[in-house]
Amino acid sequence: MTSDRSTDTPSLDAHWMPFTANRQFKQAPRLLARAEGMHYWTQEGRQVLDGVAGLWCVNAGHARPRIVQAIAQQASVLDYAPPFQMGHPQAFELAEELVKLTPPGLDKVFFTNSGSESVETALKMALAYHHVRGEGSRTRLIGRERGYHGVNFGGISVGGIVGNRKLFGTLLSGVDHIRHTHDPARNAFSFGQPAHGAELADDLERLCALHDASTIAAVIVEPVAGSTGVLLPPQGYLQRLRAICDRHGILLIFDEVITGFGRTGQPFAAQTFGVTPDLMTVAKGLTNGCVPMGAVFAKSAIHDAFMRGPEQAIEFPHGYTYSAHPLACAAALATLQTYAEENLLTRASALHEHFGRALHALRGLPHVVDVRNIGLVGGVELAPLPDAPGKRAFDVFLDCWEQGVLIRTTGDTVALSPPLIIEKAHIDRIVDTLAGALRRAA
Ligand code: PLP
Repeated sequence: MTSDRSTDTPSLDAHWMPFTANRQFKQAPRLLARAEGMHYWTQEGRQVLDGVAGLWCVNAGHARPRIVQAIAQQASVLDYAPPFQMGHPQAFELAEELVKLTPPGLDKVFFTNSGSESVETALKMALAYHHVRGEGSRTRLIGRERGYHGVNFGGISVGGIVGNRKLFGTLLSGVDHIRHTHDPARNAFSFGQPAHGAELADDLERLCALHDASTIAAVIVEPVAGSTGVLLPPQGYLQRLRAICDRHGILLIFDEVITGFGRTGQPFAAQTFGVTPDLMTVAKGLTNGCVPMGAVFAKSAIHDAFMRGPEQAIEFPHGYTYSAHPLACAAALATLQTYAEENLLTRASALHEHFGRALHALRGLPHVVDVRNIGLVGGVELAPLPDAPGKRAFDVFLDCWEQGVLIRTTGDTVALSPPLIIEKAHIDRIVDTLAGALRRAA
């Protein structure tokens, strides 16, 4: 395809798109041209209400002037600073601001550029931590079925979504998985956390019995599993997982790439659920999606275990050219100021009832087999079309797009995660549009 000057649509040939049905997309492209507040505008000027904060990241809404200005200003003052053996003030300032928001004890911050890199970093930190304090036998990493931890080799190894794993060889060795927590027979249409399933955490005891705890370094879970279709932790489940980890000296890693920065009603899901992990990965909402950035929060004891040996030695041989990039730091600092000024990191708790009730009103509509919600995260699971898994939900996505609402689907679950600035009228519009699409769906 060549450039079409009348609509300014570029040729679509060269760009191999990520996690996209490329051929289908290129037949009927969905191109976004502009964004502001709760909305996108398409190439043709059509307004689209954003029901998913871009991709779970634009938590303060689009094109916030303070963030835009901070990035522009930073680019003109200090465009880049090498992060190895060098630093710049904003990186330190940002780390100090971030640890004011984290649960007590998670006092150290390591910067990355994405959620996937945060996961790799946390897994390496866990392995190296045991090594430096003389428990080098702890080399095994435990994930959970249906987990999503990004797309790099560590992340897909501990991840539990088969479609993301099966093409890529044998992955990391020494990885095992505990069972997922989805139990529609007992928990369908739970409002907030489901009542049943705390005992599924005991699956970690099974793996300790199988492998011996002295070989296990860490277990990683998403407090709310997002990409697999919004699965909430059963009441008491995370507490039980924490207790088992403590009993066996296993590090607990929470992957808060989507739950971080206000999504569940507190700054982090760790606070919403009252369980503090040893390591916590974030990205997305850290910069409001404006500049790629991720981070790993570590307990001081983990960091301190590395701070021994000769002072001129590099304690943790890991990092990225763009770790703590000045533009990302500027964007993140301005994002945190915006969150604070508008109380956005707790706004999802105020909207939990309204959002949840609106979503649960979809119960009884065609194909809806479950609704799940917490804070400003929602999942509406549909019965799959026979022989075409995912197609029914994708058709609903396309219908909503035509009606001017952006939703997201994963498998046959519609996932909603709107910007935290959302008003009740926007929630009602999103859910009404979804209801219409469900009624029309085959
Ligand atoms: N971890 C979780 C829980 C995620 O949901 C995601 C992305 O959605 C990632 C990791 C990967 O983040 P990224 O796409 O920024 O690499």
